Amino acid sequence: MDKKKISLLLVILIIGGVLYFFVFNKKEYNEYQKDFYEAINKDYKKDKEPSTVFTDAQVKVNKRLDEITKEFINGNDNAKILYNQLLNTNNREIGILKGYIDSINNSNNIKEFIDNAMMVEHDLSVDIFTNIIVMADLKDTNKNIVYFQPITMDFGTDCYYYNDKDYDSITAYLKKYGLAILNAYGMPRPNEVSKNIFEFEKNICSESYKKDDLTDPTKLYNPVTKSELKKIYTNIDVDRYLSIYGIENREYYSVVDVGNLKKFNSLLTDDNLDILKKFTILKILEQYSPYLTMDYITPYMEFYNLLNSDKVVSNTDELALRTIEVAYSKTLGIEYNNKDFSDKKKEIIEALIKELLGYYEQDIKDIKWMSNSTKEAAIKKIKNMKVNVGLGSNMPTYESTYIFKSNNSLLLNIVGINNVENDYMFNQLDISGFYLDIPLTTVNAYYNILDNSINFPAAVGVLFNENDNYYDILGSMGMIIGHEITHALGSKGANFDENGNLKDWWTESDYKEYKKLQDKVRDYYSSFEVFSGLKVDGEVTLDENISDLGGLRAITEIAKQKDAKDEDYKKMYESYAKLWADNYTKEYLALMSIQDIHSPNKVRVNAGLITLDKFKELYEITPETPMYRDNVESIW
Ligand SMILES: [Zn+2]
Repeated sequence: MDKKKISLLLVILIIGGVLYFFVFNKKEYNEYQKDFYEAINKDYKKDKEPSTVFTDAQVKVNKRLDEITKEFINGNDNAKILYNQLLNTNNREIGILKGYIDSINNSNNIKEFIDNAMMVEHDLSVDIFTNIIVMADLKDTNKNIVYFQPITMDFGTDCYYYNDKDYDSITAYLKKYGLAILNAYGMPRPNEVSKNIFEFEKNICSESYKKDDLTDPTKLYNPVTKSELKKIYTNIDVDRYLSIYGIENREYYSVVDVGNLKKFNSLLTDDNLDILKKFTILKILEQYSPYLTMDYITPYMEFYNLLNSDKVVSNTDELALRTIEVAYSKTLGIEYNNKDFSDKKKEIIEALIKELLGYYEQDIKDIKWMSNSTKEAAIKKIKNMKVNVGLGSNMPTYESTYIFKSNNSLLLNIVGINNVENDYMFNQLDISGFYLDIPLTTVNAYYNILDNSINFPAAVGVLFNENDNYYDILGSMGMIIGHEITHALGSKGANFDENGNLKDWWTESDYKEYKKLQDKVRDYYSSFEVFSGLKVDGEVTLDENISDLGGLRAITEIAKQKDAKDEDYKKMYESYAKLWADNYTKEYLALMSIQDIHSPNKVRVNAGLITLDKFKELYEITPETPMYRDNVESIW
């Protein structure tokens, strides 16, 4: 199944116990001055498996989710049919995929190929010509429109991996597992074919956005009419293509990455017929590999585990359970919320949100570099912010409409899920309002640019205990909340108004000033290293760094308003540092730093904290101590 992902349109911004000494002894004192992050987290586990406090918490939630899912399957005859089929890995066949693969193989010319590939894309939800999603119009979020996202590559990954040396470590895995899939299929000369497909993919991706381009939402919004779309897709029958989806009469469409689609279009020629066939067949097989035989499942699981360190799948029974968990993610998330997210925790989070929103409103009034009219607009954005804690607004779910039949093949039942999901998605075109698909069992928090909302899935509650000290919670949950609120005004969020519409609400000189301040944050973080020899990318991480600085300043000011004692501040800062503990090796840090738009955890802690006078005072960070840096002031 293919829960449609919003890949390039980064419209949501996710965030990613305390040591406490009344009396410092000399040794610890020095450790703090040297490397605060290390001093706090030196005892964090040293396992081989890469983990963080967030992934540990997610593992805990996942165990609970497994229990809830098993109960759910027991009480739901329909889900039981699918689950039993997933458990049985014997006698699986390529079944319904065969007809589609044959149609691709037997295409005699490019026109036949395009006609057949359109049906593959529509019927099997394998994106060939684009990756269609329905989402709120960035400029008028009251209505939903069709987006043409860039074509995804192996195992649904994004194009920007393919033409950049930075991503060699990831593309090496993609090649390896792609080759394993071709072997499972019995493709003649698999090594050569794999190599050719990879080169072809690099070519498709050569005109696509680079990762840096993704930091500017305005670049990703390109509305086009049908006739303009025809100028992009000169080699395909656009009328036929749109009518397959029933979207031929839309006023306009939005193309996320024009270069990507134009390039792919230019490759739709008879010369490329052979490689296009192989590229398409591999995409079909990769997408459906978890539902095929072990030859396919094994490479799929290896790739899955590589990207999901918190949800390791070691056998097919676990894979079956995971599949049910994804298919019924909303239903199960609501179950989890009702069973495990206590009213007390919800109250704690909501009370903190109220405090923080109040702080921001006040703080914006006092900003010196901003004119009154821009301040008013910024405050409006804070005042208008929607807050979803746990269930939040009523989440609609289509999952109760799945119908699985035991005399259908597994593949047919899986395709049935895709059809339900697609129907639901296209139905959004007729209504106002747009729902994002972040399961409630996700240990994370996010800001949704498109409706100006901060969101806290139920599972984020495992990051603190109900009876923890207020300052412990302020340092962890409070900081997470402040971080998310700051996203509303960050380098991406500042382009959208209080209703989530892409709209300029700045005076020219204020925005110029804001850009200057951003430059300072960019330069500041660029001066830090992931590890010796690898610099932080201050551009890609800019928005997240602005949010970290904003959140840290906010909790510090709130503590100040409460006349916090030094011990309270220490609790708060150490709680913050603990939240980001990890055991990443150098190799894993390198891998993460090319995928993640956040700074590495250690930098989030050390670079963030030393911008605070109170922190420097408490731990006696002076120009003589190693922790010291000439730093920036938080923008928000
Ligand atoms: Zn963030």
